[in-house]
Amino acid sequence: MSASSPRFGSKETIIFSDELNHASIIDGCRLSRARTIVYHHNDMQDLKQKIQAAAPAHGLIVSDAVFSMDGDIADLPGIVELGQRYGLLTMLDEAHATGVIGRTGRGICECFPSCRKPDLLMGTLSKALGSEGGYVAASQLIIDYLRNTARSFIFSTSQTPATLAAALTALNLLQADSSHVAHLQENTRCFCEALQSQGIPVQSETAIVPIPIGDEASATAVAETLFRQGIFINAIRYPTVAKGSARLRAAIMATHTPEELRTAAQTIAAVLRNRGRFSAHIK
Ligand SMILES: *Cc1c(COP(=O)(O)O)cnc(C)c1O
Repeated sequence: MSASSPRFGSKETIIFSDELNHASIIDGCRLSRARTIVYHHNDMQDLKQKIQAAAPAHGLIVSDAVFSMDGDIADLPGIVELGQRYGLLTMLDEAHATGVIGRTGRGICECFPSCRKPDLLMGTLSKALGSEGGYVAASQLIIDYLRNTARSFIFSTSQTPATLAAALTALNLLQADSSHVAHLQENTRCFCEALQSQGIPVQSETAIVPIPIGDEASATAVAETLFRQGIFINAIRYPTVAKGSARLRAAIMATHTPEELRTAAQTIAAVLRNRGRFSAHIK
C-alpha cells in the first residue's frame, strides 16, 4: 500500500470499536484482520486511554450513529476530536440515523452541525428508507480504495433497479418534505411520555425505544402476550444484548397516530403490571 492509501482495516491498523456496535461492524472488524480494541459504550475517556495505550500508527474509530438496541446517539464531536488528535480515521454507521435524527432527518451530522464530518459515513437503505442495500459516503480516495479492495462489495450482486428506485423515491420524499421526520420525532416523544406516565422508565431521542425487562423468558412471554393483543413489539435478548438485559424494543413510525401510541403504551403497561414489573413505579 502506498503511503497515501487510506490504511484502514488491514493488518497494520488498529480499529477502535464501541462495545455496543452492531454485529455487522463486529464482523467487518473480523474480516479486516485488523487488531480490534473495544471501548466502553460511548465513553470518550475510555476511548482516549485505549488509543494512548495502543499508540497506533494507523487506525480507525468506528461507531453506530444510533445504537440499534438502546436507541442512543453516538458522541460524534468526541469521536471526531479524538480521531483528529490521534490521526485516526472515523466512521459512523447511520443505519438507524438516516431519515430519523437531525431536524430534517439527515442523520448524526445534522444533530451536531458545528462538528467536522467523520471520514466515512455509511448507512442502509433498509430501515427508514424502506428498501434494501446500503451506501458509503467518503472522500474519492476512500471510495476508490473500497471499490478496489472491499471483497464483500466486489463479490456481491448489485442491487435490483426496483429496490434502487424505491430507495431513491424515499430519499426524494425525505428531501422534499421533512414533515415525515417531524412526525416521527413527535411520535417518539408521545410514546415515551405515555409510557413514563404509566411508570415505565423509558427515554429515546430516536425511533428506537427500549423497554427494559431483564430476564430472557419474561421478555419473550411479554412480547407474545402483546402480540395476541394486537401489538407487534420485538423481544430483544441474549446474544443480541447481554444476558439479563433483555428488553422490548419498540420501533416508532411516522405514520403511527398519537391514539395508537397511547393505546400501545397502556397495553404494554398493563401487561407488565400483570407480571409484577415496575410495580414499584406504577400507580
Ligand atoms: C440494520 C443495521 C445494519 C444492516 O443493514 P442491512 O441493510 O440489513 O444490511 C447495519 N448496521 C446497523 C447499525 C444496523 O442497525
